[in-house]
Order: sequence, then structure tokens, then C-alpha cells
Amino acid sequence: MQMDEYGKFTATINPLAEQSSFELSVEAVCPFSSRAQNEDQIGQELFGKDCPYHNKIGYYQATYAGFVSEGNFRDRGSSGGMGTWIVTNLMLEGLVDRVIHVQPRHPCEDDSRLFHYQISTTIEQVKQGAKSRYYPIEMSEVIRQVREQPGRYVIVGIPCFLKAVRLLMRQDAILAERIKFCVGLVCGHLKSRRFADMFAWQCGIEPGNIVEFDFRKKIPGRNANKYGIEVVGLRDGQMVTDTSPVDKLYGKDWGLGFFKYKACDYCDDVVAEAADVSVGDAWLPQYIQDSQGTNVVIVRHSKIRELLEQGIAMGKLKLDQIDADEVVRSQESGFRHRREGLAYRLHLTAHQGEWHPPKRIQARVNLFKPLFNKQQVMRVVLAKQSHIAFKQAVDVGDFHLFIKKMEPLIKQYRMLYKPSRWMQIAQRLKQLVKQMLGR
Ligand SMILES: Cc1cc2nc3c(=O)[nH]c(=O)nc-3n(C[C@H](O)[C@H](O)[C@H](O)COP(=O)(O)OP(=O)(O)OC[C@H]3O[C@@H](n4cnc5c(N)ncnc54)[C@H](O)[C@@H]3O)c2cc1C
Ligand code: SF4
Repeated sequence: MQMDEYGKFTATINPLAEQSSFELSVEAVCPFSSRAQNEDQIGQELFGKDCPYHNKIGYYQATYAGFVSEGNFRDRGSSGGMGTWIVTNLMLEGLVDRVIHVQPRHPCEDDSRLFHYQISTTIEQVKQGAKSRYYPIEMSEVIRQVREQPGRYVIVGIPCFLKAVRLLMRQDAILAERIKFCVGLVCGHLKSRRFADMFAWQCGIEPGNIVEFDFRKKIPGRNANKYGIEVVGLRDGQMVTDTSPVDKLYGKDWGLGFFKYKACDYCDDVVAEAADVSVGDAWLPQYIQDSQGTNVVIVRHSKIRELLEQGIAMGKLKLDQIDADEVVRSQESGFRHRREGLAYRLHLTAHQGEWHPPKRIQARVNLFKPLFNKQQVMRVVLAKQSHIAFKQAVDVGDFHLFIKKMEPLIKQYRMLYKPSRWMQIAQRLKQLVKQMLGR
């Protein structure tokens, strides 16, 4: 895996590798390969016996919303702290002795990454790994370590990474024996390292000068989705710490897809369907006002369900059972992008004569939603141009160049959400008729 000039990890193929072994191993484990099993097939094999199937969240035993009430898991977590609580308790119960997850690292001259996959072996290390990293990561290093170091492991990952892990476990008996659980994170999309650079630069810390970054700083009294960022780095030669609510910063809107990996526009797994348990944010009106954060949780493994039920009974967890459809509602825009939106993007790609990975969604044009179709096109353009424009801004050392290049595109995109003149007139007429009828 190599970092490209835009700050994304890219898979590279060793030209000396034998072609036949490449076809057998790599194509069988790449989550976007035509020869790999899909999430339904993987899920059916793992969970089909004990779990009903839902066409958006896959197989599930139980679904909850809530948070950790014991200790400081919730304070230290991005959301309700369930991600760290689950892996900590798998360790405390003696079910695993190592946690593979994403930890902060000290950047150095040879390697300026702020985060990487690492293996934690103590509870304190596990807790230090809490929080979401909207940052490029890769797992070749830790997978090598799992092969070399016997133990019982749990891995935390976003959906496509866990799909790859499940596929890898089918090919590699050592990994299959050592990886005992997979904990999934709900995923909107992955960002290049420029996402952190973009925010830090607005705080006066130029790209290359960041030392630490918190993508999810909770701000008391604000809605959970109105969180902040905190960055530590060099500003005019001085080490400083700066915090800002994201809504004050340019580029905070995830809907614009700034710095998105291209693969994410060909993804149909929002909730990590191959995971034994998935955790995400409960972006729902009844939970969003709590600035401390609330999780949605989808359980697929009986042992983890037992752990959660015990936690609830002992007052360590405050979890409400919710409907599977309610979990889907908490990720409405993610599912729209990766169902209807994906169907149209697949159609566009095929129409241009290009390859796209096989998906569980069929390519389709929605004839009655021309604006929606145009929005999908613009989203692809925005993501692609954001990588290019930011690199140009870094090359000339001027953040405003990035804004200048992106603004015309954003304006075009936003226009697609504005109701047309005719729609405005129709809405106004409807209101007038309602008023006249006294309703
Ligand atoms: C790229 C990305 C996109 C996301 N998009 C959405 C979304 O659209 N909707 C939504 O509801 N939730 C999304 N999440 C999940 C959300 O941000 C929280 O991570 C989740 O709610 C768990 O919070 P927590 O407080 O329970 O976990 P915490 O207690 O904070 O624990 C998080 C765990 O995840 C690990 N981790 C952090 N970043 C990564 C990473 N990049 N890859 C693998 N492991 C990691 C940490 O090491 C830690 O073990 C996303 C997460 C990531 C990393
Ligand atoms: S959106 Fe899909 S492809 Fe992109 S990082 Fe998330 S799981 Fe992977």
C-alpha cells in the first residue's frame, strides 16, 4: 500500500508476483473484486442460522440505541463510547487478548502519518484508541503481525476493511484461527489526509505541521452532530492547540464528499454487514440533542449480545431496543447515496464503457428524478476536483485557491437542491388554497 500524491492509500501490485498467485489470492480478498463473495453471501454463511435478514442492514439479532454509562467511555469516545466498551469487555471476559484498531502516532520525517492500525494488548492502550479517525489507514502491517504473533484478536474496522478481513480469513487458516471477532463502524465514506489538513490550515496550521488531530471534539450544550475539531501543531514556529466547531470551518459538509476515495462511490455496505457487531451514530431526532453522543448498535453474534444484555442489567450500559428500520433512518443520507445514488452511478459508469465492481444494486436511471441524477454527477465531480484543487493550493501555499476552485462547483451543486420557479409557484398556490379552505 502506498500513499499517493493526494494523500490516499493506493494498492500497488508487485510486478514480480506470479500472475496465477495474484489471481487466486488478491482477487479473492479484494472487497471490490469481481471474484470475491459479496456481503450477503458472507453474512449468510456467518449469521444466516441465527439472524433474520434486512435488505439494508444485513443479518441482525438485535438493534439498539444508547451509550455507555460506566466510567469515561462515553466522554472519551466519538459517539456513545460503545466501540471501545465492546472491545474492552471482550478482553476483560477473557475472550480475546489483543485489539487491532486505529491509534494516533507521532509523525516523523520518514513517516508523517497521524494515525495507523495498531495492536493493543492492555486495557489502557485499548482506551487510548477511542475516537473516529477520518483519515487514510491500511492494515498490511498489522495483518503481518497477527500471522507472526499467536493470540486471540478482535479487529475494529469500517465495512470494506472487515469484508476484506472475512475474505482473507477464508484464504488463511492462521488468521481464521486467531481473529475471533470483528467490530464494525458504520461508514459514510473515507477521507484522504487532506481532510485534516483542510481544517488545520484554517486554524493557521499549515499542511505538514500537524502533530495531533481530534476529528470529534464534543461541545457541551450543542447537538451531537455539531461537534468540533481539535488540532495540535506548529503555527509560526510555536506549538499550539486550536479547537473549533466544524460548522465554522470551510468544507465541513460531508454531503459534498470532499477528499472521498473513488471506491466509496461504488460501495453498498453502510453498516459493516460482515461484522459481529456494528456501531455508529444515532443521527435521530430523539437522540441528537445530547451533545455527549448516542450510538446505534447492530448485533449479529450471540456472545456479544450476551455481553450487552449483561451490561444493561448491571447498569453499565443505557441501551434501548429499537427497530431495524430506525437504524436505517439514522443513516438516511448514507443509504440514499448507496442505494438509489449508487444505481445511477453504476448506470453512468457502464454507459461510459468503463468497468465497475459487481454490486448487489442494479444499475438504473431514475427517469422521474432528473435533479437527483444530476446531484449524483456533481457529487462525483466535487470529490474528484477536491483532491486536485487542494494539491494545487498546497503547491502554491494558498488555502484560498482551494476555495476559489471549489466554490463554482458547490454553487452549481446547491442549485440542484433549490426548487425550480414552477415548483415554488405550485407550493405557494397550495398554501393559498389551504388558507382559503381554512386548513
Ligand atoms: C471513516 C469513518 C466514517 C464514518 N462514517 C459514519 C457515518 O456516516 N455514520 C455513522 O453513524 N457513523 C460513522 N462512523 C462511525 C462513528 O464516527 C463512530 O466511530 C462510531 O459511532 C463509534 O463511536 P464510539 O463512541 O462508539 O466509538 P469509540 O469508543 O470512539 O471507538 C472507536 C473505535 O474505532 C476505531 N477506529 C477509529 N477510526 C477508525 C478507522 N478509520 N478504521 C478502523 N477503526 C477505527 C478506534 O481505534 C476505536 O477502537 C464513521 C467512522 C469512520 C472511521
Ligand atoms: S464508504 Fe464503503 S468503500 Fe468507502 S470507506 Fe466506507 S466502507 Fe469502505
